[in-house]
Amino acid sequence: MRITFATEAAPGRQNADADKTTDTTDITDTLDSTDSEDNEDFFGATPDAFVLLDGAGTPAGAETGCVHGVGWYVRSLGSTLLAGMTQDSGTLTEILANGIKAVASLHHFLCDLTHPGSPSATVIMVRRMAGNLDFLVLSDSVLLLDVVGEEEPTVVCDDRVNRIGRAHRSAMDTLAHGSAEHVTARREYVETMRDHRNREGGFWIAAVDPLTAERSLTGTLPADRVRAAALLSDGASRLVDLFELATWREALDVLEHSGPGELIRRVREAENADSDGSRRPRTKTHDDATAAYCLFGRG
Ligand SMILES: [Zn+2]
Repeated sequence: MRITFATEAAPGRQNADADKTTDTTDITDTLDSTDSEDNEDFFGATPDAFVLLDGAGTPAGAETGCVHGVGWYVRSLGSTLLAGMTQDSGTLTEILANGIKAVASLHHFLCDLTHPGSPSATVIMVRRMAGNLDFLVLSDSVLLLDVVGEEEPTVVCDDRVNRIGRAHRSAMDTLAHGSAEHVTARREYVETMRDHRNREGGFWIAAVDPLTAERSLTGTLPADRVRAAALLSDGASRLVDLFELATWREALDVLEHSGPGELIRRVREAENADSDGSRRPRTKTHDDATAAYCLFGRG
């Protein structure tokens, strides 16, 4: 089998000079890493377990009640889940619930975990065990499964957060990225979305409450039916689901033949061609982007 991934913080966040080309971390090329402090995505893998998290962005000036921050939250939860998946034969839902609880216990005495803006993250977990491939998706990161004999990949993603977002983002979408008005509108949008977070009728994301794990999309397939899996944060999946510059099948082909770094390069190219967000309205010009590709050996 072969696992490749690339992850890159949003340009401009890790370096004030937005014109400077940022380095993509791609384990097929190099073991050097961009500073993970700046990247709120997380990917980790063993030969049989894969985890991707995308920390929910907190704009400057917004309160969160947590002194640790979103980056700390995703690294803590991501590493806890990977450990759970390799040590525990329980269901992925149980492992996620235990992970959310364990991370809450790391900072509940120091931080206000009742704050509506406490750090949160999307979650994808994939595990191969006893001849099966189990998967779990919470919120809007995208899992693609390339199933043997099927033309189109299976796409697993819960995009409720985006459907709810569309009802509240019209003011923000009319403003050019980088303007003071857009910064203010984005902060208001993020605060409005918090009212819908982990509520009935809203959207579900890992934060403080272990019961949120039960809102995940889950499934199991015979492992030998899955040729490959791709895990994408929304900063990478936007090549397909926002910019519509590729199909999911084409994205899988790029991942297999050119590598995850190339997929992210194409995302950055599309973002730079619409840097004020006028053609493709979005919360931020750039987002942290992570793409992982796991080929299970039926090449
Ligand atoms: Zn904290």
